[in-house]
Order: sequence, then C-alpha cells, then structure tokens
Amino acid sequence: MAKKKKKDNKKQLFIYFVTFLVIVAVVLFVFYVSNGYKFDFGFLEKESESESAASSAEIGEVDSIRDLKVYFLDIGQGDCIYIELPDGKNMLIDTGDKRNAGKEVIGKYLTNDKGEKVKIDYCVATHPDSDHIGLMSYVYDEYDVLKSYRPYVYSENKLAPNFPSGLNEGKKIKATSDIYYNYIKSVYDEQTPWEFFKDDSDFTNRFYDKNNAEYEYTVDFQMPYAATLNGYNYFTTPNDFSAIIMLEYADRKVLFTGDIEYETGKKGAEQSYIREFVDYSYMVDCDVLKVAHHGSDSSTSEEFLKLVKPEHSVISCGLSNKHAHPLKSTLNNLTSAHSKIYRTDLQGTVVLTINSKGEMTIDVQTHEYDSMLFDDGDTIKAYEKEHNDEIEKFKAGLNAA
Ligand SMILES: [Zn+2]
Repeated sequence: MAKKKKKDNKKQLFIYFVTFLVIVAVVLFVFYVSNGYKFDFGFLEKESESESAASSAEIGEVDSIRDLKVYFLDIGQGDCIYIELPDGKNMLIDTGDKRNAGKEVIGKYLTNDKGEKVKIDYCVATHPDSDHIGLMSYVYDEYDVLKSYRPYVYSENKLAPNFPSGLNEGKKIKATSDIYYNYIKSVYDEQTPWEFFKDDSDFTNRFYDKNNAEYEYTVDFQMPYAATLNGYNYFTTPNDFSAIIMLEYADRKVLFTGDIEYETGKKGAEQSYIREFVDYSYMVDCDVLKVAHHGSDSSTSEEFLKLVKPEHSVISCGLSNKHAHPLKSTLNNLTSAHSKIYRTDLQGTVVLTINSKGEMTIDVQTHEYDSMLFDDGDTIKAYEKEHNDEIEKFKAGLNAA
C-alpha cells in the first residue's frame, strides 16, 4: 500500500511536471509569436520588418489576364509614368510638373473602361523635385490612393514642424518647397498607408487565370545602399534619393531610375548602383530603361549601360526645355550601347506593352494637347511647326532602326 502510494505520488509528480512543461511551452509560444517571432523548422527566428515588408505576396484569381502596360506620359518636362498591371492593379510613378496639360493627360490615362477615375493601388513619389511631384497633391485630391511610397527626405518647409511626429523624417537636403510639403500633407490628410521606400520595399503579386495557371509580377526596389534608411546619408542632392525600381513580368524587365546621377561628390546613386550590382548583372539586365534625369549628361554613363544593357530606352522630357535635355552625349551613349531611343518630347506618350508570354511592343501616342505650355511659353503646335524637320528626321531614324 505504502509502496503503491509512493508509486502514485511519483506518477502524480510526473503528471504535474508534464503539465508544467506544457504550460511553459504554451506561454513561451504565445510570447514569441506576439513579439514578431516565427517558427521555422523548430528554430526561433525574429521576423524582421524587412522580411514582412518584402514578402507581401498576394494571391488572387482574376477574370482575365491583361497585358502589362507602361505609359510614359507626355507631360512636358518631367516624369509621369502610369502602369497598368496584369492583375488589374496599377501604379503611378511621379506626376510631372504643375502644368495645365499635366492634369489633362493624367485625367485621360488614369481612367477605367467605364470612364471613371481609377483607384491608384501604388503611388510612388521618386524624389521631391517639382517636375516629378508637382501634381501629387492634385492626384491625392482627385483620386483614391491605396498605398504611398515616399522618399526618405525631410521637408524643411517652415510649416513642416506642424506635422505629427514620425511623419516628417529623413535626410535634410533643403527640401523647402511648398510642393513637397503639400505632398506629405496630402498623404497624411487622406490617411493613405505609406512607407519610405527602401531596398526591402519589394513585393510580388501572384494571380491565377480561370485555368489555374499561375502568373506573377515583381516590383523590386533596387537600392541596396538604402537597405537601411541611414544608407542614404551620404547622398547630397534630391536626385540621388530617387526610387530605382525594376518591374519584372513574364521574363521581361523594365528599369525606372528617377533622376539618379552618376557622380555627386563621387558618391552618386548611379555609381552606387553600379558598384552594388556589378557582380550580379543578371538582376539588372533590363529590356527597357526609363533613362535617368530626362537624358541629362549627369547620368546614363557608359559603365551603367554596360551593366543594365537596355534594348530600348525611353527619355521623358519636354520640347525645348531650358535644360536642353536630352544631352547629345547621353544620346550617343545610348546609341553606342545599341539601345533604341524613344522620346516623349518628339513622339508624345510612349506605351510599352508586355503580354503574359513576354511578347513586347512599344508604340507612341502623339500629342493631343495643344494647350500644353513649355518653358519658353510656346505651345506644342507652334513648336512642332517650327521644328518639323527635326521631328521628322527623328521619326525617320526610328523607322530605319
Ligand atoms: Zn526631373
């Protein structure tokens, strides 16, 4: 009996012990999971913010696979790129300057099949210059924006101290304009989810057609120097803070470079990009390049082109612009690299189409906006009349190529 009791005691102790272990395990599990840890084959690993941001893949079934379309909109001097993604989503990269016709152009293209304003799924402001974000506040007023990607640049506008904490961070580079301040204010006022774009802001969206075939596209923010936001700290001009984005779909790659420059105090973003990817050229070898900084000679070095090898290049700039973009030396670099050049100033809106098989076409949609003003106050019609020979020569060259 005594023996049995001793045995029972032992058994009970054992049960208590096991129960205790189970409780400890449950408590630990709940604690770790609630603190952002994930279980991975038995290892506890802290899931970094970068991982959770980078792997935001979405899966959905779509009625029909659309062609991916990239519209390099003809908005005069500046950048405004509208992308229709194959799963029905879209992305806007920059808005161009605050010119009358910019609104007209955006209004025409950011419209769905029913003639309604689209909702903008992803809106990227590459950097604080007015020729890129001049109409951002207008866009936030007129359109629903579902997600914003912002440059890591601090607004030094005198009203910026009124922003709630956390909203106005980043590098101080004399971004004093009302335009940049108003852009941040719009993102805040509209309560749009936003993040500072950085190396790990990438995402891949997967989707299926009715036959269950899987497709995906990736938006890859290729700024390894900005893996941490502090990585930006050595840049000194707003241009170098530009988002560099590689869009991949059906084995095609399109590279957007904002206004990055080769050399700014020997540490320009273009140079940093080359340095980071020189041994990983397969990641940056693209089909189409949005030429940086409107074809300025401060970007698009031979070294850069040797790395990214674009078959086609698109230059977004205004006719008769005061910077004389694009520069001859840049055009020469592109020609030497056997890249076919498209120009919004001479041709109008450039439309790149990629279908699900990876077949690619590039068309142009000529100007329809006679009211568009240029730096010299001229209109397109008057300018085109005056420069007809130059434009015809360029178009003839294109056809011959
Ligand atoms: Zn620019």
